[in-house]
Amino acid sequence: MVSSFYIHVPFCEARCPYCDFFTLGKGTDGARLASGWLTVVAHELELWIAAGDVVASEPVRTLYLGGGTPSLASAEAVDAFVKTFRSLMSFAADAEVTIELQPGTVDQRKLEGYALAGINRFSVGAQTFSPARLKLLERRHSVEDTVKLIRDVKNVGRLSIDLIAALPEQTLKEWQADLETAVSFDPEHLSVYELTYYHGTALASRLHEGSLRQVDEELRVEIFEWTVATLTEAGYEHYEISNFAKPGCRSRHNENYWRLGDYVGLGAGAHSFVFPHRYANPPDVEAYSAAISADKLARRLIDPHDQDVFYLENLFMGLRLLDGVDIEDFRTRFGVGILDHFASRLAPLFEEGLLELHGNRLRLTREGIVRADAVISYLA
Ligand code: SF4
Repeated sequence: MVSSFYIHVPFCEARCPYCDFFTLGKGTDGARLASGWLTVVAHELELWIAAGDVVASEPVRTLYLGGGTPSLASAEAVDAFVKTFRSLMSFAADAEVTIELQPGTVDQRKLEGYALAGINRFSVGAQTFSPARLKLLERRHSVEDTVKLIRDVKNVGRLSIDLIAALPEQTLKEWQADLETAVSFDPEHLSVYELTYYHGTALASRLHEGSLRQVDEELRVEIFEWTVATLTEAGYEHYEISNFAKPGCRSRHNENYWRLGDYVGLGAGAHSFVFPHRYANPPDVEAYSAAISADKLARRLIDPHDQDVFYLENLFMGLRLLDGVDIEDFRTRFGVGILDHFASRLAPLFEEGLLELHGNRLRLTREGIVRADAVISYLA
């Protein structure tokens, strides 16, 4: 049953040099496009309901507006969208409704409008509190914009802060200052992603040319371990490789992905998992919009051809949670006993101390968490 919905708003003011998401940098047009987009997306929901894959009476537990830059959309557009969504679906009384906010695109009035529309969780894309690093990342906002937005969010709902660690040439001291600043705002939730140099991005080209220097492996590990220790000490639970929450404040939306639950992604480029099928909407605004306005779902089936690949991809997704994968739940959902089925594949990970059994759960060890990228490549 689907009770989690992701809305992809694929518009930004400009493309950041490290980003490989499907998004269009449309300059000042972004606000108009993002607002109008939500009307198209609401119609896609109607088509999913008509197709029978979404049941209107099944209460929505999580709704997440991400992107791109969903905070380019006006408060009025978000209000109209949430109202339409609520007219089409029933909602759980404690539904988690999140929007990603980019500093510099939201003033206090807009933020209050979002809260009145029913958004109760706000994820602020701070990335760094260093003016020099913001410049390197070509973010179009200042540290002051970020701080002002964070303070405003604290008056209207739950706060999550996104940071990027291991930025080019970053020292441990600089990272410590970034994280300590974030913690000083006492957010309920923190996401800390290490910078990835995705192929085809401007930052990856600069790295390749030699005009940027990546932090070395030793420092990367030091940053990660210091982060975990500091946030644990500050009362955060490290519940997923890159995510930390105060008790009771995990991202329920993202946790549903890691617990391998069903979800539907609406909007161009969005993905869905409605067991046992996976779908993807085309990363093409025009093709997507044309299909939806012709009352056709734009989704295409993207099930792996090999069933073992499907199991392994789900297994790794589940291993991102620190408490790992419940082996019996996995057997019930996927019809396969992972320990037997993948015995030879998993053996080296056990031998190297990267995986362990804890009761009925299969999970990464502390070393496995630090080397999660290597475990993914191995399982992929
Ligand atoms: S604002 Fe976010 S989604 Fe848009 S280009 Fe930058 S990193 Fe990518």
